[in-house]
Amino acid sequence: MKNKGILIVVSGFSGAGKGTLMKKLVEEYEGYSLSISATTRKPRPGEENGREYFFLTREEFEQKIADNALIEHAQYCDNYYGTPRDYVEEQMALGRDVILEIEIQGALAVKKQYPDAVLLFVAPPSAEELRRRLLGRGTETEEVVDKRLRRAKEEAQGIEAYDYLLINDDLETCVKELHAIIDAAHHAPVRNEEFIEKIRQELA
Ligand code: ADP
Ligand code: 5GP
Repeated sequence: MKNKGILIVVSGFSGAGKGTLMKKLVEEYEGYSLSISATTRKPRPGEENGREYFFLTREEFEQKIADNALIEHAQYCDNYYGTPRDYVEEQMALGRDVILEIEIQGALAVKKQYPDAVLLFVAPPSAEELRRRLLGRGTETEEVVDKRLRRAKEEAQGIEAYDYLLINDDLETCVKELHAIIDAAHHAPVRNEEFIEKIRQELA
């Protein structure tokens, strides 16, 4: 019996490898829907509107907030980021596991609205490796990299608010662990109420 979809929130320092992990997860396993956020930051080379993000102007973004069209939104390094409500609710209703890749303020806001959401934090094996990955990605200036590393120091204070910590050292291993955690969450009694009711009735 397929139980209902889970809302999964993945956070982690910029450069930890969240985007890379999500891409592999959906390539290797079925049943996942990735939410596409709205942002006011400029697209990086290779990013497409409607694929990585919906790229909006500040005015357009503020209109979405006013229309209550976002589940949550936050400011991160001078830009707005937010989760469109429609897609998440639609996919969950279809029984799919929906993944939000968002920063910590957004993660906490989601947990308040959806207490059953599973929160995962992705960290690199070391701070040195984080800097190497951020610089290696080659999509930000050194100044932006430094800003993101300062932000990482703040974010590290919030890790205990998450349900699980994933260390993205070997990518393949980390993808397997991510899928295993979500798979395990499907086995919680709270997500299997229909089956529990059925077996109780059969036993009665
Ligand atoms: P995030 O989405 O968390 O900001 P990215 O997915 O863009 O991070 O990854 C940052 C950089 O690190 C990319 O260049 C990516 O190819 C690289 N990377 C991701 N995971 C690993 C890993 N397990 N080992 C080595 N490099 C990685
Ligand atoms: P980036 O600019 O590297 O794509 O993302 C910067 C940060 O914004 C990352 O920590 C990412 O997880 C976060 N982020 C992306 N989309 C959202 C969103 O919809 N809401 C919130 N709160 N954070 C987001």
